[in-house]
Amino acid sequence: MPQLYDQFHDGESTPPRRIRRSAPPSQGYPMTPSPMGRRSCRRRSRTPPPVIPILLSLAVIVTALIIVLTHLRPSATAPDNDPSAPPPASDALTASPEPTPTSNNQRDIAIPEWIDQDLLPLNEWSQPGDPLLQVNGVVVHYVGNPGTTAEQNRSYFKNLAETHETYASSHFLIGMDGKIIQCVPLNEISYCSTVRNVDTIAIECCHPDAEGKFTDETMASLVKLVDWLIETYDLQREDIIRHYDVAGKECPIYYVRNPDAWEGFLDELTFPIT
Ligand SMILES: [Zn+2]
Repeated sequence: MPQLYDQFHDGESTPPRRIRRSAPPSQGYPMTPSPMGRRSCRRRSRTPPPVIPILLSLAVIVTALIIVLTHLRPSATAPDNDPSAPPPASDALTASPEPTPTSNNQRDIAIPEWIDQDLLPLNEWSQPGDPLLQVNGVVVHYVGNPGTTAEQNRSYFKNLAETHETYASSHFLIGMDGKIIQCVPLNEISYCSTVRNVDTIAIECCHPDAEGKFTDETMASLVKLVDWLIETYDLQREDIIRHYDVAGKECPIYYVRNPDAWEGFLDELTFPIT
C-alpha cells in the first residue's frame, strides 16, 4: 500500500489561519491643549462647561470604536484547514465572495456507463452527505501522489473515516489508465476545493510522476468527463477551473506551471454556443 497519507495534497488539515487583530486607531483627543484653555488666556468666561456637546462627542467616539472593533473581529466561520472542524463553506484563503446558490440546477442525472460508480460510505471526513444545490463549475486537481491508482486514492478517501487524518474527497477520480471512479453523488458536496466546495464538481487526476502531467489516457477521460458535465450543467469555458484558480494552490501542478497546457485542455472541450 503506497504511503498516500503523507503526500496527499488536497487534505485540509493544516492549522487555521488566524486573523491578526490590530489595535484600533486612536480616537483620543489631541494632546495639545486648546488655545482657549491656556493660562495665558486673559478672558475668563463664567459660562459652565458644555456638558451636552462633550457627552455627544463621547457617544460618537464610542459608537465609532464599536464599529471598528466589530469589523476587526474574526469571522465566525472557521477558516479552511481547521483540523477540528469540517471544511467550511467559505474560508479566508481568497477574497472572492462565498457563492450563494440562488437556484437549484440539480435533478435526477443518469450517470453514463463509462463512469464506475463506487460511492464512499457516509462519514464526516470525506462524504458528509451535505447537499450540493447548484453546480456553477468544475474544479480540476491532481492527486499529488505520483504513481497511485484511482482505486488507491478512493481507498484513501474511504479510510479517512477511520484515520481522521484530514477532510478530503472528490466527486471523481481519474486513473492513469483513464478509468473514472465516482466517489461522491453529484448532488452532494465533496471536500476538495475549499471555498468552491459548495458550488462545483471536483475531479482528481492521477499522474505518473512529480511533474504532474496527466497521461494521454487520463487526459482523454478528463475531456470526456468534463464535456459531459458541461452539457449536463450548461457550463462555459470560464467555469472550468483549476484548484489554483480557487485558492492559489499549485494544483494541478503541471497545468499551473504550464498555463499553455491548461489552455490546450480547455481548447479540447466542447462548450455550448451562446
Ligand atoms: Zn487540488
